[in-house]
Amino acid sequence: MKVAEGTVGRVAVVGAGLSGLAAARRLTAGGASVRIFDKARGPGGRCSTRRAEGHAFDHGAQYFTCRDPAFEPWVAQWRASGAVERWRGRIARLEAGRSRPDSGRTERFVGVPGMSALGRALARGLDLTLGCRIERLERDGRHWRLVDADGAAHAPFEQVVVAVPAEQAVPLVEPVPDLAVALGQVEMEPCWAALVAFEDRVAADFDGAFVSDAPLSWVARNGSKPGRPAAECWVLHATPDWTRSRLELSREQAAEALREAFHRALGADLPRAVHQDAHRWRYASTGTALGRPFAFDRASGVGACGDWCEGGRVERAVLSGEALAQAMLQT
Ligand SMILES: Cc1cc2nc3c(=O)[nH]c(=O)nc-3n(C[C@H](O)[C@H](O)[C@H](O)COP(=O)(O)OP(=O)(O)OC[C@H]3O[C@@H](n4cnc5c(N)ncnc54)[C@H](O)[C@@H]3O)c2cc1C
Repeated sequence: MKVAEGTVGRVAVVGAGLSGLAAARRLTAGGASVRIFDKARGPGGRCSTRRAEGHAFDHGAQYFTCRDPAFEPWVAQWRASGAVERWRGRIARLEAGRSRPDSGRTERFVGVPGMSALGRALARGLDLTLGCRIERLERDGRHWRLVDADGAAHAPFEQVVVAVPAEQAVPLVEPVPDLAVALGQVEMEPCWAALVAFEDRVAADFDGAFVSDAPLSWVARNGSKPGRPAAECWVLHATPDWTRSRLELSREQAAEALREAFHRALGADLPRAVHQDAHRWRYASTGTALGRPFAFDRASGVGACGDWCEGGRVERAVLSGEALAQAMLQT
């Protein structure tokens, strides 16, 4: 049963990725007064777009799928607002210099003009404070107080949604030991992403490919997605194993190694790179998931959500945030 409007109280959401934003939207619709805090410069978290020297790269999430009917209304709203379109790129499997078309019938969606459009659309109209890293939660009588990296306190809140990658959530939920123990079981995997703009078109007969030859796991021609500049920008993702053993590479070293690996995997010469960089995602995907849609300690009012709850994808992140919000709204 939903509580009457206005009685849900004040809720803080730490993390403006898709799970935190979905939770915030659902809580706001249910009558809560919601404030969101994120350490980054924009909303969207791992669904993001990097722009550099006139080039654009979706360096985190590449696309998303909609398998659960519960996710359909979210996708419909994004599409209606123009923030999402279908990506009809040619998807392949690449192995030992040979590509073969991916035989699946998966419908793939992307944010327009970049993946960061998803977070921007969800954040519209919400009370969002950016550039604010929350360091700890403190109990203040019957309320929660959030203390940020500058020592400033944000309060009072009856409930708190922690919507950050599990390993980063553990220290935040320390005042609620059962939650900290549950989240401590989750394991996340890292990913180096190389972002390379080529002078000319790459001789590949696909726009995105799942790669079997380590160190690469996925490569994509960013400009093949709707609404992107036509420039020949590629995103090259490394496997978790390769990344884990090379976390301390410099961005230049990682980009160089992955571009070279792309050359080998493709079995063809690459045009000259006119821009090259890399981004290290420490918490990119989920190794060991929580195994349920969210974690919530009703007595304290603190809950946690994210893609790591059930499988590490955009769809699961949104549904995790929505499910936690629904639990918080119920008496
Ligand atoms: C390289 C890569 C490729 C991917 N490919 C795909 C794909 O093709 N398809 C797909 O469906 N999914 C993909 N994903 C996964 C997808 O991006 C995630 O499932 C989804 O974006 C997770 O959303 P989230 O809200 O759970 O977490 P996040 O997006 O990580 O959001 C967490 C937010 O919390 C903020 N934050 C963290 N700590 C604090 C703090 N202490 N204080 C304040 N703010 C804080 C962060 O800045 C961030 O904005 C990929 C991810 C990566 C990295």
